[in-house]
Amino acid sequence: MNATDTIPLVRASLGERELAAVAEVFTSGWPAGQGPQGTGLEAELTRRYAAGGAVAVSNCGAALHLAMLALGVAPGDEVIVADYTFPAPAHAVRYVGATPVTADVRADTGTVDPQAVADLIGPRTVGVIAVDTLGLPADYAQLKAVTDRHGLFLVEDAACAVGATYQGREAGALAPVACLSFHGRKGATSGEGGALIATDPAVARDARMRSSFGIGSIFDQAQIVGLPVPEFTEIGYNFKLSDIAAAILRVQLGRTGELLQRRRAVAARYGELLAGEELLSVPHVPADRTHAWQSYPVTLDAGVDRAKVATDLRAAGIGCGHGAWATHLQPVFATKHTCPVSADLFRRTLAIPMHAELSMDQVERVVRVLRTALRAHAS
Ligand SMILES: *Cc1c(COP(=O)(O)O)cnc(C)c1O
Repeated sequence: MNATDTIPLVRASLGERELAAVAEVFTSGWPAGQGPQGTGLEAELTRRYAAGGAVAVSNCGAALHLAMLALGVAPGDEVIVADYTFPAPAHAVRYVGATPVTADVRADTGTVDPQAVADLIGPRTVGVIAVDTLGLPADYAQLKAVTDRHGLFLVEDAACAVGATYQGREAGALAPVACLSFHGRKGATSGEGGALIATDPAVARDARMRSSFGIGSIFDQAQIVGLPVPEFTEIGYNFKLSDIAAAILRVQLGRTGELLQRRRAVAARYGELLAGEELLSVPHVPADRTHAWQSYPVTLDAGVDRAKVATDLRAAGIGCGHGAWATHLQPVFATKHTCPVSADLFRRTLAIPMHAELSMDQVERVVRVLRTALRAHAS
C-alpha cells in the first residue's frame, strides 16, 4: 500500500491563497496579535454574525474560558453543559472554579436535550453551554425558552459548526455568546485558532481585554500621540490570535461556502450508499437545520465490535475515530449523575473520513471496506 491509497479521517484545505496571505503579513512587519489582520478578522466576524462584537483568540478553549469570565461565573456556581462533546465546555467551567453539570443528549442528533437541561436547573445554576455536536446545531428555540424562563445565560459552543444553520440562522449567532474553533480539524482553520462572538459589545470588550493580559492592543497604543502608559487593573491572559493566523482565517472564512459544499456532497454520498445498511445508522439532520459536517459519525449496531471494525479500516489505510466523548465518564469530571444516551453514543459511534478533499471514489472505497468489516465483526 502506498501513500495514495490512504484515506485520512481529516485533512485541512489550506493552499496557495492562504500562503499568499501569510506572505503579506511577513511583509507588513506585524506578525503578533491584535494588529491589522486581527482587527480586520474581528470586523469580518462581527459583520458575518451581525454581532455586537467578535474577539479573535488562540483557540476555542480560550474563548469558552473568556466567556465564563465575562459572564461572571464564579466558584460555587453551576453551569449545565452538553455531555456528548469534546469536553471543552466542562473544562471552561472548571477554569473559573465553578461546577459543570452534564446534561444528556438526544439519541437522534447527539445534541443536548432541552428537557434534560430543564430538569437539572437548581438554585446554583447560572447558565448553560450548548454544543453544536460535530457540526449539527442544538435545539436553540427550546433551550432559549428554558434559559429565559430561569434568567440563565446561554452559550453556544459552535466549535465544529461554522457554516451550519438552525431555522435559517447561522451557527455562531444562535445564542448571545458563541465560541468558534479554527483548529486544524474544523471546517475553517488556521492550524490553531478561535473566536468569541457576542451580541453584547460589553461582553466582547471584556473578553478582548482579558485576552491580552488585561491591557489593550499594543499595536493600537503605538499609534497614539504621546506616551500614555496603560495600567494593569485585571489579571488577564495571553489568548491572542497571531496576525499570521488571522490572515489565514480571513481567506478560509471566505471559502466556507465552497468547502462546505464539498463536505455536503460527501455526506450525501455516504447517506445514499449506507441507507440500507442495518448494522449502522447514519446521522439524522432535522428539517429545521443544516450540518457543517465537521465529522461524519455513524452509530454502529450494539452487536458490532467497534474496535475490530476500526482495526480493519486502519489496516486498509482508512482513518477513523470514536467521535465525541461522554464528558461525565471522563475521570476528571467523574460524577454519580449519569447520561445514558451520551454514554451509549460514546460506545457506539464511529467517525469515518470527512473533509473537503475526499473524492467520490474514496467515499465508495470507505463504504466497501466498512461494510465488509461490519459483517466480519457483528455478533
Ligand atoms: C474542537 C472543540 C473545542 C476545542 O477547540 P480548540 O480550538 O481546539 O480549543 C471545543 N468544543 C468543541 C465542541 C470542539 O469540538
